[in-house]
Parts: sequence; structure tokens; C-alpha cells
Amino acid sequence: MRHPPTLAATGTSRRARLSAAGCEQVFARLAAGNPHPTTELCYGNAFQLLIAVILSAQSTDRAVNKATRTLFAVAPDAQAMLALGEEVLKAHINTIGLYNTKARQIMQTCTLLLRDHGGAVPADRAALESLPGVGRKTANVVLNTAFGVPTIAVDTHIFRVANRLGLAPGGTVRAVEEGLLRRVPERFRANAHHWLILHGRYVCKARAPACDRCVLFDLCPYPDKVGVWTASGSPQGSGAARAPNQKLPRRRSPGRSTGRG
Ligand code: SF4
Repeated sequence: MRHPPTLAATGTSRRARLSAAGCEQVFARLAAGNPHPTTELCYGNAFQLLIAVILSAQSTDRAVNKATRTLFAVAPDAQAMLALGEEVLKAHINTIGLYNTKARQIMQTCTLLLRDHGGAVPADRAALESLPGVGRKTANVVLNTAFGVPTIAVDTHIFRVANRLGLAPGGTVRAVEEGLLRRVPERFRANAHHWLILHGRYVCKARAPACDRCVLFDLCPYPDKVGVWTASGSPQGSGAARAPNQKLPRRRSPGRSTGRG
């Protein structure tokens, strides 16, 4: 996961806010398209998920999966990871940014997991955040994905999507996280993290959002959305806000950024 950009970099200088009914519609549509979303990180148990998320800081899931494919084959748990040793661990993850720091943190984390938790990953925020290399975002991902806790870890994609869609407009990661926890309908909360990441990664991209194939198009208040709204592309049962095939003018707001993510 990469760090979130500033609010200006999302292109959302105006903080439109979606209605409660709009929020419900957003998640109903994302759920209809992908009823069982999950992380794209590969892992076989909670320990491997924790390590993969630590490695994913400022990196891509694809790069992490490439490294962990061989790493987890020889070090599937905390004990085996410690036995492997820091230098061998580095050789496995040296294609990932900050691998020296991450290797040291992983070794320290494994030591603490064995000393304090019998080698298991704790399902507790404070215990997770006390581990080296584990901050609030990593703890949120592990709590949500490994233990089903309805947390929402805000990364660059979620920060951008939440602001563009007006789901939880905010200038900081924490403000967006708290806004999402308040506004995402309860029945969607456990999976909201995955739906929003996937939407940001593949549709509502930072530099070139694919608005013309976005199922949220008619709900989205983002002033710079672009594309063509077609009858065939409209979501079933949606209240399309404009006529089929109506072209949308590209609007530029003052001080608009390219929205690097
Ligand atoms: S319409 Fe465009 S800007 Fe709005 S959520 Fe969809 S892809 Fe993102």
C-alpha cells in the first residue's frame, strides 16, 4: 500500500458530500459486482497476511506477492521466519522498497509474537500496533481481513475514492477513516475496505479515472468526472442522472491537480 496523497492531489478541492441514500447505493452496486471481495495480497494464514501487509508499505501488492511466494514456502510462521535469519529474509525481499528496514522490523515482530502471543497474531488493535512496522493502517487491514473486524484501512486509493465520491470527505487519513466508519451502512462495513480499494485501483484511478465504465457514475459528484453515460453501461435499477449517450463536458476546477497516487 502506498501513502495517501494530499486532498488537493485527489482533485477534490470542493468537498461534496453524498447523501445517506447515495452511500447505500454506492455499496449496493459495488457489492452486486463483487459479492465476496478480498485482498489481492497472497497469504495462507494470519501471520503471512501480517508480513505481507508490512512489506506492502510504499510498494505494490504484485511486488509483495512475487517476493512472498518463495518466502512463505520456507517461512510460513513466526518461528520459521526467525530461524531463517535476517540476511536470508533480505535476500527474499530485496526487490521491495525499504527492505532492510522491513527485514529488521519483521524479525523484531516475530520475536515479540513468540514471546508475548505464543507465535499467533493478536486480534487486538493495541497489541498489533505495538509490533515493529505495524501502524494503524496495517492493524486495520489485519483486523479486517484476518479477523473480520469491520475496520476500514485508508490507503491512497480509499482516500481518493472517499473524497471524489463524497462518501467521507476529509483532508487527513484519520478524518476519512472516521467518516467512512460513520457513513458506510453497517451491513457493508466489513467489506467496504476491499470494495473501495479495488474501485480506486481499477476504475477510479488517480490520473485517469475510468468514469465511462463506472457503475457509480450517476451518483458521483466529482466535478472532473469524464466519459459517456450509455444506456447499456448504466447500472440496473439506477436512477441515471442524464440521458443515455449524453457526452459530459470535461470540467476543470481552479488549482486542479493530476492526483498522483
Ligand atoms: S464517476 Fe469517475 S470520478 Fe466518480 S467514482 Fe466513478 S471513476 Fe471515480
